[in-house]
Amino acid sequence: MFQRRLWWAFLFVLAVGILVSARIVSLGDSVQAVNHTFIAEKLPLSQRIGELHGAMADEERLLYEYYSYTATRSAFQQQRAQNHANLDSIVAQLEKDAGSRGQIAELRTQITELDRLSDDLSATLASKEVNWDMARAILMQVKPKVREIEATLAAMASSNQRAVDSLGADSQRSVSTMVRWVVGFSILIFGVAFFVGYYVVAIIREGVERRRLAMFPERDPNPVLRLSASGEVLYANPATAELLTQLNLSPTHPTQLLPADLRRHLDETRATSTSKTHFEYAHEKYTLECTIAYLADYSEFHVYVKDVTARKLAEEKLAFQAFFDPATDLPNQYRLREELAAAFTQQRAGTVMMIVADREQEIFESFGAVETERWLVKVAYRLRDGINVKEEILYRFGSNAFVLVCWAGDLASAQQRAELLLRTAQNPLQVERRELFSTLSIGVTLMEGDPCSDAASMAEAQMQQAASACNRVRRAGGNDFAIYDEAMGRAAAQALRLIADLQHAVENDELRLHYQPKVDAISGRMVGMEALVRWMHPERGMISPIEFIPLAEDTGLIVAIGRWVLREACRQNAAWQQAGLRPLRVAVNLSARQFRSSKLLSDIDAALAEMALPASLLELEITESMVMEDPEGVRSLLDKIRSRGIHLSLDDFGTGHSSLAYLKRFPIDCVKIDRAFIKDTPANTDDVAIARTIVAMAKSLGLTTVAEGVETAEQFELLKAMGCDQIQGYFFSRPLPPDEFADFYRASL
Ligand code: C2E
Ligand code: MG
Ligand code: MG
Repeated sequence: MFQRRLWWAFLFVLAVGILVSARIVSLGDSVQAVNHTFIAEKLPLSQRIGELHGAMADEERLLYEYYSYTATRSAFQQQRAQNHANLDSIVAQLEKDAGSRGQIAELRTQITELDRLSDDLSATLASKEVNWDMARAILMQVKPKVREIEATLAAMASSNQRAVDSLGADSQRSVSTMVRWVVGFSILIFGVAFFVGYYVVAIIREGVERRRLAMFPERDPNPVLRLSASGEVLYANPATAELLTQLNLSPTHPTQLLPADLRRHLDETRATSTSKTHFEYAHEKYTLECTIAYLADYSEFHVYVKDVTARKLAEEKLAFQAFFDPATDLPNQYRLREELAAAFTQQRAGTVMMIVADREQEIFESFGAVETERWLVKVAYRLRDGINVKEEILYRFGSNAFVLVCWAGDLASAQQRAELLLRTAQNPLQVERRELFSTLSIGVTLMEGDPCSDAASMAEAQMQQAASACNRVRRAGGNDFAIYDEAMGRAAAQALRLIADLQHAVENDELRLHYQPKVDAISGRMVGMEALVRWMHPERGMISPIEFIPLAEDTGLIVAIGRWVLREACRQNAAWQQAGLRPLRVAVNLSARQFRSSKLLSDIDAALAEMALPASLLELEITESMVMEDPEGVRSLLDKIRSRGIHLSLDDFGTGHSSLAYLKRFPIDCVKIDRAFIKDTPANTDDVAIARTIVAMAKSLGLTTVAEGVETAEQFELLKAMGCDQIQGYFFSRPLPPDEFADFYRASL
């Protein structure tokens, strides 16, 4: 490119140089011709004219001298002959030099006439008798003739001068034209020199840049190869040999580095519209990345190879981390989502089970994160060991949540599977010399294998369904399974709305306490009351604790709610005492989470102190499961509560399958027989037997017994006959708002 331009510049300058030289030569010739004319013609001419002037003066002078006899005849004759010869020679010369023939002819005529006058004068003066008048008359004509000749000569001189001037001007013009051509050419040379200089610099720079570019493949840390159209290696950079050595291959055989099916890749590259292909290939444990570019104008291939083994391993590790749980190596919830969505696309049928290990929170709070995770890993292994690998896949869905997908079977078999899991889970797990008891909550949902349009949303919905079935089990205390139905979905949505509202229930003063009396079975006198919370929802009206307490438990809101209940029950009882009513104990229900809260004791103390209620007028109701969680920890907590003079009752007794003898190790005052064993009495003889046993055992252990949910006179009579100490139930009174309960309280005096 640059070279071509330089060639053109050179040719242009050459052509212009030739043209300028030719022109200058021609101008020089013309100047030379002018000079020649001037020297050879014009200068002699003006000399002759001058000479002629002199000769004319001589002739005139000779004639006058002869007339006045100053000259002798012979001298005159001799002088005249000389003059004549001189004149003839000058005129002959003039004839040769002069431009105008007309003027020469005129001059000759005038000289001839002057000659004739001279002859006439000579003849007149030579006669014996000189006619002086005639001689004088002739002489008179001489002068004008001489003037005539001089005039002709002057005309000749001036025309010669004009010619000389014109030649001078011509010469001047030629010289200045020459100067212009030379100056123009010099400017052109200057311009071309500038242009050439510019391009020479550009060419030098380009050369440097090219050398630098040429170093690219040389210094590239990755292999770069140039292949012929047939795949033969034309060039391989130093990095190629390095990588070959690294791969234990011969550094002199670069083709070994290329994929085995190179020919196919080359053909493919040539056929693509972009003339470029990019792919990865394996070489033993190494992964190499290859880019092939086809250079159609050179019919060559450029091949770039890169060792991406490290990146590949990192990617695989990341992919594993993204889709597998590192602690258990089980696929995680993201993998589950993908596989469920794929299953919906393929219309596969099966069952999805959400399995949650119960008591995670308690174990965490009692033993810390590390031990909890160890326990969960053991739970995972136990679940995994029991699966049928051909049909089932186990996923770790979250911390204590697992999902078992079964691609065979129906709900009935899923039910059997869930029951088996529940049974297996009853065996304690050994974690760091500690035996941990836990149960499972299982939610089951069915995949029908129906066609669907949005597999991803269906997969999500399926997981949600399993989760809401599982949550229902958890709220009911866990250790069970539930099969999802539509109502559960609605309940789950409603629960979410309730949780949102519940956040503000305390601060919006929407909670109320109702009180239910506990009556002495023998005397029929009220001996205490249980405070039962109600939520006055601004839109839904009164909501039962059965509905919102489990939600409050799940979300942790129970701690704030429980604190409010405790304070309010103390305040109300203190107020009744101050109003002069008979001192009676108020029983407050504690939730599991509240019970585990490290602030429980300080909350109790604060409530009693602030409301100025004697500790003996407070009773706390706890459940069997709370006691069983961490027997040692609970025991010391209960001791502290009891040491303050607060009474403790075991609520809902009988549902937790625990033995009373075992429970007696805890400082408990009272056992409340769960309504489940009362409601069908006296018709259900089994329940009657259970109730009777509980009462008998409690009595033998020195515990007070309370029967919950006593609705009828028969039930009352039956329990009274069994020896049950106190009765609580609609038979005496429903839970009542404080003012109504105050009436009942007063009446019981
Ligand atoms: P719970 O402590 O066993 O309370 C007794 C439940 O039985 C009360 O239900 C009461 O209204 C009901 N009941 C009493 N007598 C009868 C009867 O003759 N027939 C029938 N069918 N039911 C009777 P409630 O008020 O709906 O409370 C349900 C549960 O909610 C309570 O069971 C208790 O576990 C919990 N709870 C209530 N208030 C609180 C509270 O302030 N804190 C905590 N943590 N839990 C509470
Ligand atoms: Mg209770
Ligand atoms: Mg109860």
